[in-house]
Amino acid sequence: MSNKPHLSIIVPVHNEEENILELYEKLYNTLSIIEKTYELIFVDDGSTDNTFEKIKSIKDSKVKVVRFQRNYGKAAALSCGFKKAKGDIVITLDGDLQDDPKEIPRFLEELKKYDMVSGWKSKRHDPISKTVPSRFFNWLTRLITGVKINDFNCGYKAYNKYVVKNINLYGELHRYIPALAYWKGYTVGEIEVEHHPRIHGESKYGAERLLKGFLDLITVTFLMMYKKRPLHVFGGIGILLGLSGVIISLYLMTLWVTGIKIGDRPLLMLGILLIVIGAQFISLGLIGELITNSRNNDDYIIKYDSYELENGR
Ligand code: UDP
Ligand code: MG
Repeated sequence: MSNKPHLSIIVPVHNEEENILELYEKLYNTLSIIEKTYELIFVDDGSTDNTFEKIKSIKDSKVKVVRFQRNYGKAAALSCGFKKAKGDIVITLDGDLQDDPKEIPRFLEELKKYDMVSGWKSKRHDPISKTVPSRFFNWLTRLITGVKINDFNCGYKAYNKYVVKNINLYGELHRYIPALAYWKGYTVGEIEVEHHPRIHGESKYGAERLLKGFLDLITVTFLMMYKKRPLHVFGGIGILLGLSGVIISLYLMTLWVTGIKIGDRPLLMLGILLIVIGAQFISLGLIGELITNSRNNDDYIIKYDSYELENGR
C-alpha cells in the first residue's frame, strides 16, 4: 500500500464492541467499490468492553487503531484522528452503525464543491428526548454562528484535509466544527444522509448534553469574536460602567460643593462601585491582550503564497 492514502476514514468509538465488525464489513464493501486508496482509523476512546480487541482482530493493513488511556470524549477522539490522518480527504462517521457507509460516494461528490460537507440526519431514528432538544439546539446554533446548515451534531462529515489540519478541537467542540471551519473562511456544504436506529450498545449522550452544548456555544462564539482583541470587549464594558460611575460621582460632587450632604446616599455607593468594576473590566481586557500577545499564534490561513508554492495549503 502506498504511504499516503487518498482517503482517511476516522471512526471514534467508545464501547461499541458489537458494532465494530459489521461496520468494518460495510465500510470495506463501499470502499472497495470506490477504488481509491484509503486508511481506516479507529480511535478507541477508552472503551471498557472488547472494542479494542475487536478492532485488533481485523486482519487488514489499512486498518489503524489508536487507543486512549481513558475516555476523553468524542472531540478528543476526532482531534486525534485528524492529527493521524494522511489522506487528502478525511471522512468521519460514528461507530454505532447509525451512519451508513454507503453514503461515502455522495460525500465525495459533494466535496468537489465545498471545503467540507456535513451530514444531515433529516429522518432521524432516535428517541424524542433527543430529537426535540436537538432541533432547538440546531436553530440556536444556526442563529448565533450564522452557518446555514440544518444539522450541526451529525458525526458524519467529509473534509478536505487542509480543513481538519487547521481546526483546534477540544472539550465538546466537535459539535461546532462547521462553525469553526466557516469562521476560518471555509465553505460548508450539507447533504441529507440516511440514519439508522442504534441496534447494539447504548448512546453515550444523555440530557446533560444540552447544557454542555449550550455552554460550548458560548465558548465558540466568544472564541471567535474576541480571541484576537479581548480589550475590545472587556474594555468596552469597563469604559461604559466606569463612565456611568464617574458621571454619578460628578453629580454628587456638585451637590456636595453646594453644601448638600451626600455621605449617606446609596447613589454614592453605586457610583464608586461602577468605577471600581469598570477598572476591573479594563484590567481583565488588558490581561487578555497580554495572554493573546504572548501566544503569538497567527490565526489566518493562507490560500496561496508565491514564497511557498509547495506548501499544500
Ligand atoms: N463516542 C466516543 N467517545 C465518547 C462518546 C461517544 O468516541 O465519549 C463515539 C461513540 O462510540 C459513537 C459516536 O461517538 O461512535 C457517537 O456517539 P453516540 O452514538 O453515543 O451519540 P448519539 O448518536 O447518541 O448522538
Ligand atoms: Mg449514535
